[in-house]
Amino acid sequence: MNLLLFTDEDRLDAQRIAVGGRRLQHLQQVHRASPGDSIRVGEVGGHMGRGTIVEFSAQRAVIEVSADTPPPAKLALELIVALPRPKMLRRILRTVAECGVPRLHLVNSYRVEKSFWRSPVLAPDTIRDYLLLGLEQSRDTVLPEVVSHRLFRPFVEDTLPALLAGRRALLAHPGDYPPCPRDLDEPTVLVIGPEGGFIPYEVSKLQETGCQAVSLGPRILRVETAVASLLGRLA
Ligand code: SAM
Repeated sequence: MNLLLFTDEDRLDAQRIAVGGRRLQHLQQVHRASPGDSIRVGEVGGHMGRGTIVEFSAQRAVIEVSADTPPPAKLALELIVALPRPKMLRRILRTVAECGVPRLHLVNSYRVEKSFWRSPVLAPDTIRDYLLLGLEQSRDTVLPEVVSHRLFRPFVEDTLPALLAGRRALLAHPGDYPPCPRDLDEPTVLVIGPEGGFIPYEVSKLQETGCQAVSLGPRILRVETAVASLLGRLA
């Protein structure tokens, strides 16, 4: 936790917040914090700054906060990922928040198992918890938006064209395709497939809509590795 994030619910008054639970445990066990210590703080959706611990007990830490630094800019990127298995989704949510992706679209695909859509990880509060972990890691306060699209075809036909307007669109797909670009010098949409890959029909639909297939080379990467590699490469 490189940034202690707080919300209005943590406020005692305009200057002070009180935190317990996971954040308190982290202050105790990792920071070995004590009264008088200064830590980095940020308000979810707001500014970042410093906090001074003014009270520290087994139940709570009271911190005097002053936050006037804006969070870092997000990437000019719409990330579309075929819904992965829950364990992988948890890691991807963290990575997405960590890397500054402003919006993640989770889409269905022929090779997405139906049961994945019933995963408790998709509950809004759970998504938020994993995104917060990513924000704490990279020092950001703005939660990425996560949008689910449970039907592939309506997504590609009705939603994707509007997303693509004014943006370059890349489909990460293993094969003999041009290498993925190394920069993000224009607004971009990036599509990443499911663990079994997109089926040929889906690849054609995405290409017809305007997505250019690009490759990361001959190695087939796991979805979470592909997400991190592509974000690293582009950003
Ligand atoms: N057998 C599947 C195939 O050939 O499409 C492998 C799918 S891979 C495990 C999951 C996703 O990660 C792919 O759909 C693609 O979006 C991305 N990916 C993995 N390795 C890649 C590579 N070398 N180049 C481009 N994209 C890759």
